[in-house]
Amino acid sequence: MYKCSASDNIALLFQKSLLFGLIIKTLTLTILWVCVNQAAHAQEVDDEFTVLIDPGHGGKDSGTRGGGYFEKKVVLEVSLEVAEQLKSTPDIKGVLTRDKDVFIPLDERARIGNKVNADLFISIHCNAAADTRAYGAETFVLGLHRNEDNFEIAKKENKVILMEDDYEVKYDGFDPKSPESYMTFTVMQEEYLDESILLADKVQKRFTNHLSRHNRGVKQAGFLVLRETSMPSVLIELGFLSNPKEGKFLNSKQGQKKMANAIVKAIKAYKSSVRSSSVSEIKSQRIEVKENRDNVKENLYTFKVQLAASSKQIAASKENFNGLEPISKGKEGNFYKYYYGKASDYQTAKRLVKSAQNKGYQTAFVVAFKPNGEKISVAKAIASNKD
Ligand SMILES: [Zn+2]
Repeated sequence: MYKCSASDNIALLFQKSLLFGLIIKTLTLTILWVCVNQAAHAQEVDDEFTVLIDPGHGGKDSGTRGGGYFEKKVVLEVSLEVAEQLKSTPDIKGVLTRDKDVFIPLDERARIGNKVNADLFISIHCNAAADTRAYGAETFVLGLHRNEDNFEIAKKENKVILMEDDYEVKYDGFDPKSPESYMTFTVMQEEYLDESILLADKVQKRFTNHLSRHNRGVKQAGFLVLRETSMPSVLIELGFLSNPKEGKFLNSKQGQKKMANAIVKAIKAYKSSVRSSSVSEIKSQRIEVKENRDNVKENLYTFKVQLAASSKQIAASKENFNGLEPISKGKEGNFYKYYYGKASDYQTAKRLVKSAQNKGYQTAFVVAFKPNGEKISVAKAIASNKD
C-alpha cells in the first residue's frame, strides 16, 4: 500500500512554490488519510457486541392472525422495544432488520446480520393454534425437529419464502413443505449450536422465572432464517396470539415491554457469560477427554453425543448426567462440553441420542472427533469412515 506522509507533501509544496489552495488540499488529503487509518484500526480492535433483532414477517406477509391480532405488528413492537432498551446499554448495539411494516425476504434478514458482523441473531415471532387453550413461550435453535409439533412451526414460519421471487434458486430448491428438505438440518450450524442453546436457555429462564410465562422449552427445528446466518442464532415464539389471555397480553404495550425487557436481560446475561473467560482461553483447547476405548477401532473418526455445554465446570460423572455413562468432557472456546457414549458409526450415535433424550436431554446431538481428539464436522466424519 502506498503510504503518503504529510512531511513529503509539504516539502514538495515548498519546492515547487505552489499556491495556498494546494496546501489546503494536501492537508485535507493528509487528514483524510489519518482518519481512514484510524477507522481501520478501530475496526481491528472493535469490541462492540452487536445483536441483530429480527421482527418476523412484515408488509404483505402478516404472519399468523391468531385471535384477530397481527403477528407482524406484535413482533415489530416487541423488537422496537428491545432496540430501545438496548440503547441504555452502551456495550451492546442493537440493529433491526426492519423498523416498519415492510416485507423482507428471509435471506436478506440473515444477510444484514452477516453484514453488520452481528454477535447474535434473534428472530422474534408469535405462535397460533387451532386449540385456543395452547399457550406459552418457546425458543428454537437450528436443528432437526424431534416431533411433529416443532416441524409444523418450522413449516409455518418457512412458508413465507413462497412469497419471494426465485425462492427455488435462492434457497437451493428448499421446499418448506417437504420433509426431505429438512434432512440437511441434521448436520448444520453445529459451530454455533452451544452458544445458541445457551442464549435460548437464558431467554426461556427470563420468560419463566421473572415473567411467569408458561415455559414450552428450548427446542430445535429447521428454521430457514437461522440456517442462513453465520452466528449464534435463535428464534423466539413469544406466545400464542390465538390464546385469549396470552394474545391480549402480547398485544398490550405493557406485555410487549415486559417481553422485550426479558429478552434484553437474557442478551446481557449471555454476553457476560461468553465474554467472562480470559483471552487465553478463547483459543480452542481440549483439556480433558476421558474416553471409553471399547469397540472403537483405531484410526477411525468417532461419534459422541453432546449433552450440555457450560461456562462452568462440573465433574464428568454419571451422577451429574441423570445416570448416563460413560461421560467425557472437553473444552472448546469458552465452554466446557459434556459428552455421552462413543461410537464408530453414525447410526449407533443416533441411537445414543435417543437414550439421552429419554433421560431428559432433549437438545442432545451428535458430534464427531478425529482419532487425535480434534473435533470435526459430523458430515466429514461420516464421509471419512465410509472410505
Ligand atoms: Zn412468525
